[in-house]
Amino acid sequence: MTCAELQPLLRDAARGRLDESQATAVAAHLGTCAACRAISEEERVLDQRLEAQLPQRPASLALKRRLAARLPPAVAPTTGTRPRRWMLLALPLGACAALLLVLRPHTDARDPLVDEAISDHLRVVYRDQPVDVESGGPHRVKPWFTGRLDFAVPHVYGGDDEFALIGGAVALFRDRKAALLVYKRQLHTISLLVFPSEGLALPSDGRVRQARGFQVVLWRDGDLGYALCSDLNGADLQTLARRIADQR
Ligand SMILES: [Zn+2]
Repeated sequence: MTCAELQPLLRDAARGRLDESQATAVAAHLGTCAACRAISEEERVLDQRLEAQLPQRPASLALKRRLAARLPPAVAPTTGTRPRRWMLLALPLGACAALLLVLRPHTDARDPLVDEAISDHLRVVYRDQPVDVESGGPHRVKPWFTGRLDFAVPHVYGGDDEFALIGGAVALFRDRKAALLVYKRQLHTISLLVFPSEGLALPSDGRVRQARGFQVVLWRDGDLGYALCSDLNGADLQTLARRIADQR
């Protein structure tokens, strides 16, 4: 079996779909050919990544096409039906794999809590009615949460000239109920989630994290966690984070 004959079979080999004689031939070739072994290992790793990541983060069709155009042409079929199937599968999966290689450092650096804060923020932005209680100041919003959450919200930052408190709602942060407070600065919506922090790896550096065009500040105060998210610039968001953290 030559390298060109073997490589189209690697994906099926990794998934245990070859018949016994093919599997034996593939194993024999891999035992002697470092180049094909490297490709085989790469296939396996990419399979895992595609499975883990593509459902949540599909690439745009345009990006897949651009990446596909950069890939070498698929190996010409030398035998019956299997290589044809490989040809069909090879380009889109190869393109996605290339995409993941491109995105890998960024993807690995992602913090699931940052992602969660952004998703929750987007829910606020896209909701017709982002708050369930409108602000008449903190004295109206804070008591509204009583009985609606399984923890007490110790303080509600009532806003100031720069950051106006719009109101509040009950939301979810990961697996737990959260108090959602919505602020505005000019045209920017800012969401603050307050939630029990137990079991969550919240950072303590007060740094602004950026992802998907949003800024996020996460912190912990006693038993509670805080997630502040907006498309506002990072310096302004950090200013608000400090004011919220300092008010007591
Ligand atoms: Zn080989």
